Amino acid sequence: MILIPDVKGKSIGVFGLGVSGIATCEALVASGAKVFTWDENPKAREKAGDTEYRAEHPKKWPWKEMASVVVSPSVPLTHPKPHPIVRKARMEKIPVIGDIEYFARAINALPENERPRVVAVTGSKGKSTTAALIGHILHGVGEEAHVSGNVGEAVLSLPAPEKNFIYVLELSSFQLDLTFNLRANAAVFLNLTPDHIDRHGAIDAYFAAKKRIFANQTKDDIAVIGVDDGYGQAACTALTARDSVRVLPVSAMGTLGRGAYALNGSLYYNRDGKTSKAGDISGSRGLRGAHNHQNAAAALAVCIHLGADTALIVKAANNFTSLPHRMEEVGRLGKAVFINDSKATNAGATAPALSAFDDVFWIAGGKAKEGGIASLKGKLGAVRRAYLIGEAATLFEEQLKDEVKCVHCGDLEAAVLEAYGDALESEAPSPTILLSPACAPYDQFKNFERRGEAFRDAVGDLTSANGAAA
Ligand code: ADP
Repeated sequence: MILIPDVKGKSIGVFGLGVSGIATCEALVASGAKVFTWDENPKAREKAGDTEYRAEHPKKWPWKEMASVVVSPSVPLTHPKPHPIVRKARMEKIPVIGDIEYFARAINALPENERPRVVAVTGSKGKSTTAALIGHILHGVGEEAHVSGNVGEAVLSLPAPEKNFIYVLELSSFQLDLTFNLRANAAVFLNLTPDHIDRHGAIDAYFAAKKRIFANQTKDDIAVIGVDDGYGQAACTALTARDSVRVLPVSAMGTLGRGAYALNGSLYYNRDGKTSKAGDISGSRGLRGAHNHQNAAAALAVCIHLGADTALIVKAANNFTSLPHRMEEVGRLGKAVFINDSKATNAGATAPALSAFDDVFWIAGGKAKEGGIASLKGKLGAVRRAYLIGEAATLFEEQLKDEVKCVHCGDLEAAVLEAYGDALESEAPSPTILLSPACAPYDQFKNFERRGEAFRDAVGDLTSANGAAA
């Protein structure tokens, strides 16, 4: 557990009792704070139980003596409108922060030469994969790396800082909006596509939240920036001009004169103006597709900065296992391979998945995001047929019909059966049945994990029925 400085005897509110909320309560109690908690969900309140941070309605909190209120990243700060807890805290002039801010304060409280190193990763897509990949590479080269975020533990539950540790944090825009004093020795900004506008109000506010990852960096640190979209390019140009940190662009779309890039399945990096090939990752099953090669280029830049050997970095990238529901191979049957990319909840995440294979039998649909899949026009060259499910089916057919033949399947099981049948009959030598929905799951599934599990189960049933090993 990470102890929090300067909270002894102080009254702190914690609003939101999810995994990170509970971890924050425990760290605060262990650090000597008086903790007041609440969650709108009675089930979550039960988790606080009969502890020193037992839930009590915020109306009863001692507002006049509160030092801070820690809110869960899901609590709206501004849009669609500020949550009442945020309004109350602002009225009482009490800072509203997140658990990452306490992590930052814990690190900053250490003497400079005893601080562990911190890697922070953000972007619209690829955060979990890149954070996990960096952690995997660092373990592979013998570093003591601790990964936190969606894929790991709550940050304050991680082991207390030691000088030789490297913390790797996956940070969403919501978390960054609640963080003020974090200094990342390596900050990664992968990409930006319109998302979460309902929470940020406008794309510029979302972009601004993401750029907070570079706050407090110094010339000893690196800012690794994906320049394959206009937002990344703008951030890279602005930060380079500011000259306050070493900026390393990364790309999976072309060569670069500095930073790191992926080209035709190989990774390259620049050092002192000289470009070198780090190695080949084209066969890595855990990092399929150009988007994952962008993630790998970012991980390469970070790990070189942290002192890792390039050959070992590439070796680790090649034996990285993809995270569940992200371009995850879940079966093979005859000549067909099944890929679960359930986490692709918008067109931006699906686009690279579609271009990662030669012959795609594509399962898409669910609860459409704004604009649907209009942005995929012209990127459907590998798609042999689309199998549409859920609420978005009609809209998607409308948006696809000029380029791709569509089949309405209703649900996921039916889509798997249809797609597999067509794949087998096709002339494709190695067809891919790809679940990459470009939609939220909520019309048919509780979350993207359940959707991915349903896909895996359907593939399992198909495999048993066909008497082959997946
Ligand atoms: P995040 O944690 O940012 O949501 P994940 O690593 O969980 O990102 O991946 C989410 C989805 O985005 C998956 O479908 C994955 O294949 C896709 N993806 C991963 N990396 C990238 C990237 N660099 N650019 C675009 N899409 C990506």
